[in-house]
Amino acid sequence: MTIDYTDLYLGGRWAAPATGSIIPVISPSTEERIGSVPEGAEADVDAAVAAARTAFDDPSGWAHWDGKRRAEVLARFAEELQARGEETATRVSSQNGMPISLARQFESGFPAMLVQYYGSMVADREDEIRPGMLGGSTVVTRSPIGVAAAIVPWNVPQAITFLKIAPALAAGCTVVLKPAPETVLDAFLMAEAAHAAGMPPGVLNVVPGGRELGAYLVRHPGVDKVSFTGSTAAGRSIAQTCGELLRPVTLELGGKSAAVVLDDANLAGDIESFFGATLLNNGQICWLCTRVLAPASRYDEIVDTITDLAKTITVGDPLSPDTGMGPLVSARQRDRVEGYIAAGRADGGRVTAGGGRAGDRGWFVEPTVFADVRPEHTIAREEIFGPVLSVIPYTDEDEAVAVANGSDYGLGGTVWTADPDRGARFARRIASGTVGVNGYTNDPTAPFGGIKNSGMGRELGPEGLAAYENVKSIYLDVR
Ligand code: NAD
Repeated sequence: MTIDYTDLYLGGRWAAPATGSIIPVISPSTEERIGSVPEGAEADVDAAVAAARTAFDDPSGWAHWDGKRRAEVLARFAEELQARGEETATRVSSQNGMPISLARQFESGFPAMLVQYYGSMVADREDEIRPGMLGGSTVVTRSPIGVAAAIVPWNVPQAITFLKIAPALAAGCTVVLKPAPETVLDAFLMAEAAHAAGMPPGVLNVVPGGRELGAYLVRHPGVDKVSFTGSTAAGRSIAQTCGELLRPVTLELGGKSAAVVLDDANLAGDIESFFGATLLNNGQICWLCTRVLAPASRYDEIVDTITDLAKTITVGDPLSPDTGMGPLVSARQRDRVEGYIAAGRADGGRVTAGGGRAGDRGWFVEPTVFADVRPEHTIAREEIFGPVLSVIPYTDEDEAVAVANGSDYGLGGTVWTADPDRGARFARRIASGTVGVNGYTNDPTAPFGGIKNSGMGRELGPEGLAAYENVKSIYLDVR
């Protein structure tokens, strides 16, 4: 049975699309068609932005409600998301190959958690009053920026959507979401949840489509704020448009993070956390630490530990609860990853696990480990976005810092050590937006984002809410 939608969620109702064009959804495990949605056209983006604009400009509408009232709708939204949690996880796994055990955490659990978190952040918030240094005082008010365009990728589609829309909605913005064409069925289910929660018309609109449609949305005159997660190349182009328009933009882009194994680490003892930080979601997460820096004094032993890990991962049907690794999202992505594996070999890297395809159908690539990788090798510099780890030797901590920081990216990172204080000291030396000690988890309260080519701005935490607000100072008692 396939899941097929014929209408788009615009202005609080299911509306006929402007054209008859559709986006087919293909299973990466079976290569069979599992559903379809209408493909948004420019006229649909115009309708979505107009609906969001009208909702935002309504003087008694969403943007002007107090935080408590918005939080009540968001609490109902969280309940409706939870009620659809298992279906959301199944749809995501079926579309992008994410192991279902992971989809249940990231894709069904996390969105509702974020909606509740940001709802409660605004529920009782009051204006801040700051005593002045020059006499008088200032009332600092926060108001929603306006219509927010949220453009998301396919790899963790629901969690990434909610990094944007949970704070945007809590702040009082209205939203036009453009999901990636590979993962649309989950976005439509999310729209059903919003509708069932009583989200007012126009507050949340969904228009699926490809990069041209995304670019059209970014430059649309009715949009006040852009939030994008995706590749660095697309981020650069979006930043150019937003720069020209002086339009606020948050960019979460690519990564090539380092896992620095210190000489006292018990990597075998932490192997589950290490898997989570390096190979999760079939290697398709932006912050994964795919450059493993190992001390030369323990190099062979660490290569063996990681090789054993890669060889014991259960690769297969993403819908099976025992699966540790599913297929890559598309044939194009598999070809790209295979190109990097060939480049790694050509540069002189030694494959100690994997290196080929798995299974006779679907876009599976074996978990792959390269030893004898040097920092200048292509596979140590470029984001692969697949299950390929490079193990690079270093001689002392200063060299490890230099290699870890010698990257065009700066999004994630991990330090592995028996001494957490030493790990925290080392983490401060890593040039990156986030670093974990003996593991890596994006906590809702902790700001997440990158430096250098990994983007600008932060999501999550109070910083994630501030990205959707204008701050205004009202000077009082000024003489
Ligand atoms: P992509 O940039 O091709 O596409 C991402 C989304 O942007 C899709 O919805 C796409 O349709 C749209 N898009 C593409 N070009 C656009 C443009 N010029 N203007 C407007 N919209 C455009 O990325 P992808 O290959 O689908 O996703 C993988 C990339 O995303 C990787 O580089 C990965 O590191 C990055 N990513 C980053 C984070 C993060 O938080 N930093 C999280 C997940 C993925």
